[in-house]
Parts: sequence; structure tokens; C-alpha cells
Amino acid sequence: MSKIKMNTPLVEIDGDEMTRIIWKMIKEILLEPYVDLKTEYYDLALKERDRTDDQITVDAANAIKKYGVGVKCATITPNAQRVEEYNLKKMWKSPNGTIRSILDGTVFRAPIITKTIKPFVKTWKKPIVIARHAYGDIYKDVEIKVEKAGKAELVFTSEDGEVIRKTIHEFDDSGVILGMHNTDKSIRSFARACFNYALDQKIDLWFSTKDTISKTYDHRFKDIFAEIYETEYKEKFEANNIEYFYTLIDDVVARIVRSEGGMLWACKNYDGDVMSDMVASAFGSLAMMTSVLVSPDGKYEYEAAHGTVTRHYYRHLKGEETSTNSMATIFAWTGALRKRGELDGIDELAEFADKLEKASIATIEKGIMTKDLALLSEAEEKRVVNTEEFLIEIKNTLESM
Ligand code: NAD
Repeated sequence: MSKIKMNTPLVEIDGDEMTRIIWKMIKEILLEPYVDLKTEYYDLALKERDRTDDQITVDAANAIKKYGVGVKCATITPNAQRVEEYNLKKMWKSPNGTIRSILDGTVFRAPIITKTIKPFVKTWKKPIVIARHAYGDIYKDVEIKVEKAGKAELVFTSEDGEVIRKTIHEFDDSGVILGMHNTDKSIRSFARACFNYALDQKIDLWFSTKDTISKTYDHRFKDIFAEIYETEYKEKFEANNIEYFYTLIDDVVARIVRSEGGMLWACKNYDGDVMSDMVASAFGSLAMMTSVLVSPDGKYEYEAAHGTVTRHYYRHLKGEETSTNSMATIFAWTGALRKRGELDGIDELAEFADKLEKASIATIEKGIMTKDLALLSEAEEKRVVNTEEFLIEIKNTLESM
């Protein structure tokens, strides 16, 4: 059998710990036998980021800008303990944060649904897709820890010299201060990305902020969404019988839990960070949540929503058996290969991606799964397999299709 050929390289961004181990296995077992993989490889292992003073992360993001499609393995975001563990020069920033701020855009997270894994929330029947604004807010903030009494002010100096000054707080003792921002440009592209996704998928769009408390900041998001909806999307939404709906975040949370799903829920950066983990866990497992960053100029970065699965990695290092779920990482690859296929007009590549996703889901539906799904699965006969066996079983299903 001849392998599927690619034209344009996929930007391949390798990462850390257990997901790095899975990454290699997925390539060897599920991709390389079928696809003549053409990738431009960036190694974002923490040691490499440290060695290059994090330049490798910037290079990887720029490569996605150049080629249009990337696929990323989970990476460690260092904290104090990691600085010590890896003997780092400094506490490098989150690579995802760096890539997102270079590409801008919106992260869409959707759960992988199988017939045998029922969501914890009984009413949920359809996927809930979260759109997370990927720029600004606390991810690009400035923080100060104050040690003594004093006055904190928010000051804006315009290019032409106008000054706006507001008192944040008069401290009479130690405390903390945070300054953050967003731009109308980024909020607009976030809004358009959400409206386009909802139209493309023909699903309702819900948007939530806390504008009753944040009367200027969050209110700006609400106004921009409303303006863009009215002027650019209202007619198209009505023609497609779908709805745009704005409400407070606390109200949305209550409604989502009582809904049957099937909507796109647009969230500000932090809300999306938290809510996508909640939705993923409630649908069954963090390991079943896919994630794609879509930039305003149509660049795509696919990844799993989960982290590097540190606990399993330490077990792996001790030579113990692991049962790590590779679904979301497989779907990161299939998402990227499908998009590459679509952009380059290689139907075979997109079809292969579809088939591999079907084989992965069918394997779980047959009752073959990793440990994280074992308690959740309602398959008649269950067989819990280890990390590598799971991939081999998917390969067997794929071959039988
Ligand atoms: P994690 O997602 O790795 O793990 C959270 C929990 O979910 C753990 O109990 C883990 O066992 C379980 N889990 C997650 N994925 C699983 C899978 N595929 N199979 C089976 N179980 C799975 O998050 P964490 O423990 O908070 O963080 C570990 C590391 O990952 C940290 O260094 C963090 O910085 C990094 N991280 C990276 C990303 C990213 O690159 N996108 C996202 C989150 C965390």
C-alpha cells in the first residue's frame, strides 16, 4: 500500500512528560505506516525552551504563521517546583500563552462523544463547544505585590499626552495589585470567530461575561459582540434558524447544566480556561477534550486540552505500566491533518483523518479503553488496556475498516 503524500509541512510541536511518550507512539503506530508525514519539527521540551531562552516557542508560533497549520503536544508550564526540578535559568512563561499571543485568535474546545460514555450531567445529549478568547486579560497582566501602605493608581497616557488617572486603592498595609488589558481589535476578531463557527456548525451561540460588576471592561465585550451581530450576522443567523444569546456568566452556568447541550459557549480568556475543564470533566474525561486555536487570519493550531499527565510519566520512568488516554492527542493530529488536506486539496489526507477518528471512537465503543474511562463506560464488555495496547487496538480497528 502506498502512503498518502503531503505537500506543505505541518508544524509539529513536541512537548513534555507522558504526552511526549504518547506523541512518539501515535506517530509510529497510527500515522507513519499510512502517511508520508511531512513536518517541520519544533522541540518545546522544557529543557530545550530553557536552552534557547524560549526562542524555540516563538519560532514555532511563527512557523504556524508561515505554513498555516500546527499540531502541538502538551508542555510543562514551569512553576517554582519545575524550576528546581529542571534546573531552569528562569521561570519561563506558558508556551501556550506565548503562542496564543503571537497568533491571537480563539480557542475552540469540543468533547469527543462516544455512545458508551455518558456525561455526568444527565441532560447533556450533544457536545458543548467552548470558545475561549485567547488574548489578553490575566494572561497578559502586570502584577505588583505591595509590602507597605501607599496608593495604587491606574494611569493611561495617550500618545498625544492626555492623561487619565484613577485610584485603584489606598493601601494601609501590604497587598496585591493587578493591571490587565484587552483590545477592541482582538475582541472583534474573537466575536467574528465565534459567529463564523456557530454559522458553520449551525448551532446557537451563547456569550457570557460579568458586565454587571465590570461595567466598562466586560461591558465592552458585550457591546462589541452586539454591534457585530447586528451589523454582520443577524440575517445569516435568522436564515439558518440559529440564535445569538447574551447573558451573565452565572446565569449561563445554571442554564448550561440544565440544557441538552449542542451550543457554542463563548467565554472570556479565564472563564474559558476554567469552564472548558469543567465541561470536559463533566462529559467524562479531560482526555476526551479536543482543542484548536483559530487565528483571525485563518491559521490553526491543534492540541489536546489536557496537560502532560505528570503522574503517569513518573510511573513510566519507574518502569511501571501506564494506561494513559491518547484520544485528545490523536484528535489533535487528525484535526491538523484534515485541515492540511483541505487547504492543499489532498482528499485522501482528510479522509484518512476522518477514518482514524472513527476507528478511535469505535475502539472505545467496542469496550476497549484506558483506565480513566473504565468506570464511566457503559459498554457491555470492558477491557482496560495500557497506553501502547490502546493505540495498537485502534490500529487493528482502523485496519479492519
Ligand atoms: P493534566 O491534564 O496533565 O492532568 C490533570 C488530571 O487529569 C490528572 O489527574 C491526570 O491523571 C488526568 N489526565 C489528564 N489527561 C489524561 C490522559 N490523557 N489520560 C489519563 N488521565 C489524564 O494537568 P496537570 O496535572 O494540572 O498538569 C500537568 C502538567 O501539564 C503541568 O506541568 C502543566 O503545566 C501542564 N499543562 C499543560 C497544558 C498544555 O500544554 N496544553 C495544559 C494543562 C497543563
